[in-house]
Amino acid sequence: MQIDILTLFPEMFSNLEHSIVGRARKSGKIDINFHNFRDFATNNQKHVDDMPYGGGQGMLLMPQPIFDTLDSFPHENARVLMMDPAGRTFDQAFAEELASEEQLVFLCGHYEGFDERIKTLVTDEVSLGDYVLTGGEVAASVMIDATVRLIPDVLGKKASHEDDSFSSGLLEYPQYTRPENFRGLSVPEVLMSGHHENIRKWRLTESLAKTLRLRPDLLDTYDFTEEVSDIVRQ
Ligand code: SAM
Repeated sequence: MQIDILTLFPEMFSNLEHSIVGRARKSGKIDINFHNFRDFATNNQKHVDDMPYGGGQGMLLMPQPIFDTLDSFPHENARVLMMDPAGRTFDQAFAEELASEEQLVFLCGHYEGFDERIKTLVTDEVSLGDYVLTGGEVAASVMIDATVRLIPDVLGKKASHEDDSFSSGLLEYPQYTRPENFRGLSVPEVLMSGHHENIRKWRLTESLAKTLRLRPDLLDTYDFTEEVSDIVRQ
C-alpha cells in the first residue's frame, strides 16, 4: 500500500517510524511519502492560508498549494481522505475498508480548516471523533495505525486482529497470562481446562456481557446468530 500525507508538519508523524507500522515500512509492505504543501506555495512569503471571505476568526488553507501538491504525484485510483471534524467518524469497519486500498492520501488541515473548494479533490471527509484538534496530523496518524495493522501479514503470527474488539461486532473477551494466581486474583478455570469448545463458549459469553456493560450501542447493529441469541436468553 502507498500512503501519501499532505501536511505542514511532517515531523509530527515520527510515531510511524516505530513498532508494527515502522516494521511494515522497512519490509516494504507499505510506503509512506510526505508532501509539505508549503513547498508548493507560489507567493514570496510561502503563505498557505488567508482570511475568510465574509469575515470571521482565524485563517483558512488556500486551494492553490493543496491543488498543486496533489497534481505533483499520481493518485488516480487513490482514496483521498480529508481530515475534518465534520466528516464521517472513523471506526474499525472503515479501517477494514481502507486496508484493502492500494493508495491512501491524507489531507491534514490546520488553522480554521480548508477553503471549501478543496473538498472537490477528496473522496472522503473523515473525523476522528466529536472534538476539534489543532490539526489533522494526530487524526491521520491514528487512522494510518489502525489501517496498517489490518493489511495481511503486517501483524506477526503471534498477534491477530480477528478477535480484537469491534472486528466481530463485539468487544474482546477478558484475557489472562501467567501467573495463575496473582495477589489472590486467579485465572478463570475454564481457560486452563484445555477444553477448546468450552473456552470458545466462555469467551463468546464474556464478550457479550462486556459489550452489554460497556458499549450496549454496539448491539443495535450486531448480527445475532442462534448461538448468541441462546446465550442472551439464558
Ligand atoms: N474550524 C473547523 C471546524 O470547526 O470544523 C476546525 C478546524 S481545526 C482547528 C484544524 C484542522 O484540524 C481541521 O481542518 C482538520 O484537518 C483537523 N481536525 C480537527 N479536529 C479533527 C477531528 N476530530 N478529526 C479529524 N481532523 C480534525
